[in-house]
Amino acid sequence: MTADVGEALESAWRQVTATSRFIGGKQVEEFEEAWARYCETTCAVGVANGTDAIELTLRALGIGSGDEVIVPTNTFIATAEAVVLAGATPRFVDVAPESLLVTPELIDSAIGPRTAAVVVVGLYGNMPAMDEIARLASAKGVALVEDAAQAHGSTWHGKKAGSFGVAGCFSFYPGKNLGAIGDAGAVVTDDQALADTIRSLGNHGRLAGASHIHALAGRNSRLDALQAAVLSAKLPRLDDWNQARRTAVASYRRRLSPDVRMLRTGDDAGSTYHQCVVRVPDRDRVQAALGRAGIESGVHYPIPCHQQEPYRKFAAGPLPVAEQAASDILSLPVFPHITERQVAYVSSRLNEIVTRPRRHVG
Ligand SMILES: *Cc1c(COP(=O)(O)O)cnc(C)c1O
Repeated sequence: MTADVGEALESAWRQVTATSRFIGGKQVEEFEEAWARYCETTCAVGVANGTDAIELTLRALGIGSGDEVIVPTNTFIATAEAVVLAGATPRFVDVAPESLLVTPELIDSAIGPRTAAVVVVGLYGNMPAMDEIARLASAKGVALVEDAAQAHGSTWHGKKAGSFGVAGCFSFYPGKNLGAIGDAGAVVTDDQALADTIRSLGNHGRLAGASHIHALAGRNSRLDALQAAVLSAKLPRLDDWNQARRTAVASYRRRLSPDVRMLRTGDDAGSTYHQCVVRVPDRDRVQAALGRAGIESGVHYPIPCHQQEPYRKFAAGPLPVAEQAASDILSLPVFPHITERQVAYVSSRLNEIVTRPRRHVG
């Protein structure tokens, strides 16, 4: 996809080198404005990566030691990691079997006296029931933060990922639907004061416009001008790229046999299919056989967060849906430039592998 915007990238590179302003500056401001507009929020703050986006949001909300933050166990580790980095305690919840996403009911049952926030993840580009979750969070006085690092442009009933809670956190890691050419991230919000605090925390606690007054004990988490210029060059293509992913997944849906179970993605038109996750029996055998047919697949994720060593101590008990899913999920190839022929090839090989009677030795 970077190749699609080669000329725009070269011009961005020339502009950035001409100004010698490599961090912050005009390119960053322009991208922040464009990203806020795209996400239908009023503010965006560029930061160094998606993990920082979540951590700095929690810190700016005053969440830390003694606070609990609800997170789904089926997510990339950074969701839970950011909670720990902020000094708070992750409270893991299970996911629904048909979507592998959190539900309002699962969140509700985990809310306790120390719950300060819930971080809801638009995992695989699929959105949980955001309107109900937002209503629940506000009724219970719990801050709703979105980890939208896999949901650039996803919608729930027409409303954009990142725009539901107090803040939406994005990563622009190169593999994401909108990817930089290095690490990058952003927070979007309608709360100007929150945006200002996040910006200050990520810029050594500086007061806006006062480079030697450090009003907060902050840190360094800023967006590079070059990354911002690359992201601005790619952003106009994002909707087309997401649409191409939807077309590919619709084709998988038509072609795959019922033995290959696809996830329910809720508001279908609203998913941006960062991953196309299916569930198959005997996953490791299936994945190896696909590999021999030249088909690369992934597993997102083979170990739920609450079973990773540093996070076990936060697990209150088994989370059976996520634990079961970890052994049967498989992420099929999906990217904007995948061809119909490639989808047909993957589908027919996968159908064969899954339905072929297994050979037993001995
Ligand atoms: C990629 C990702 C992150 C973290 O982003 P980085 O930019 O790698 O720090 C957080 N949450 C989810 C769900 C992600 O997929």
